[in-house]
Amino acid sequence: MTYETVRGMRDFLPEDLARRRRIEDEARRLFRLYGYREIETPVVESYALLSAKAGEEIRHRMYEFKDLGGRRIALRPEMTASVARIVATKLRTEPKPLRLGYIANCFRYDNPQMGRYREFWQAGYELFGSTRPEADAEILAISHDLLQRLGLDFSIKLGHVGILRGVLSDEGVDEGNQNIVLGLIDRGRTRTALKTLKDLGVQELCLRKIRRLQKLKGSDTEAILAKGEEETRANEAAHTSLIELRDILGLTRSAGVTCQILVDLGFTRGLDYYTGMIFELYVTQMAIALGGGGRYDRLVELFGGEPTPAVGCSPGIDRIALAMEERGLFEGEGPPKELLIVPIGEAQSPIVFELARKLRDADIAVQVEVSSRGVRNALSYASELNFAGVLLIGPREAASGKATLRDLRSKVQTEVPFDEVVRAVKSLL
Ligand code: AMP
Repeated sequence: MTYETVRGMRDFLPEDLARRRRIEDEARRLFRLYGYREIETPVVESYALLSAKAGEEIRHRMYEFKDLGGRRIALRPEMTASVARIVATKLRTEPKPLRLGYIANCFRYDNPQMGRYREFWQAGYELFGSTRPEADAEILAISHDLLQRLGLDFSIKLGHVGILRGVLSDEGVDEGNQNIVLGLIDRGRTRTALKTLKDLGVQELCLRKIRRLQKLKGSDTEAILAKGEEETRANEAAHTSLIELRDILGLTRSAGVTCQILVDLGFTRGLDYYTGMIFELYVTQMAIALGGGGRYDRLVELFGGEPTPAVGCSPGIDRIALAMEERGLFEGEGPPKELLIVPIGEAQSPIVFELARKLRDADIAVQVEVSSRGVRNALSYASELNFAGVLLIGPREAASGKATLRDLRSKVQTEVPFDEVVRAVKSLL
């Protein structure tokens, strides 16, 4: 019998993991540059917390089960609920604005396919304590910086849930039904969404307005916002949301976001907790979003905390890696150059260990030949694995106090006194 990974789960072999780490390193660099402090939370949380505002689509894809104590728990499908829980409890009295970051694995029982896995990784940036468009613009700028620093060519799709919600509220559609309708639109089922509204008694005039708003999208942001303003003139909350969206857009441009921004006034996202600006990140070669985020001003309060406005984003590491791969952005990257030290004969092992320690103390990566292979085999192993050089220590070297250093690129061999090995290896690497 042979065992394989469970469907939808992946192993990360050294090269795969190196790629993921490269993205995580960049995400962490941005934590520092923007002042986000990193946190970790448990993979397992109570089902009640994770499902409270997850939205129907994500809720029914959760890995949910009872632990041996009978608690109803689930594997986190995303991180925002956990971070909001912390802000509602342990960091309740922390000075605001509060900036928290994370890199975390999440689980969703999605249908496995290109860019869709059952365990995937998200980086995240959550900014608590500001209702201002400056906060929204910061989150958009961070999302932009991450993808730009990784070399991707991308666009931002930008909307505001307050527009559709405002129009629906004016028609007397309650929040629960709004969530159902926005969820349907998010899954591309606009016709069913409109039918649902009709069944709820929403007038034809309003349905037409929603259809028109759905068509207001594109990169000519000024024209679209102007038309949206016309369209929502009679809906105060929707109109205010539009003005807010315009402010956010302006500030985002001032913050140096140069990529294409597509405003989409009929855009919704699959999570119920959004209350304001929402966005997704796209590259031309992929139909699914690389990341997304938005404003969620009521979640902390819902979890028992002080009323705390919040905005955040979660770039998806797996899809970023896929996009980078397709663009060839990982090419030419290999493991860091290393040195192999080979004792010729067991008697040399103590000298080899001593030299290895000196080199590592100088921050040089060294592998020691531990299987008493002959020189020829050791050299071919080192070439195959792309080592930069090999240091040979045989009886002759031990007697003369000079190691033989072989540069595997130039194939040149030199004799190096033991106390000069660090300097010589440094210049070889
Ligand atoms: P969401 O929490 O749904 O807004 O997702 C944010 C990001 O997480 C998405 O844009 C994806 O990059 C990533 N993501 C969500 N679900 C999956 C999945 N099943 N597999 C891989 N990445 C995912």
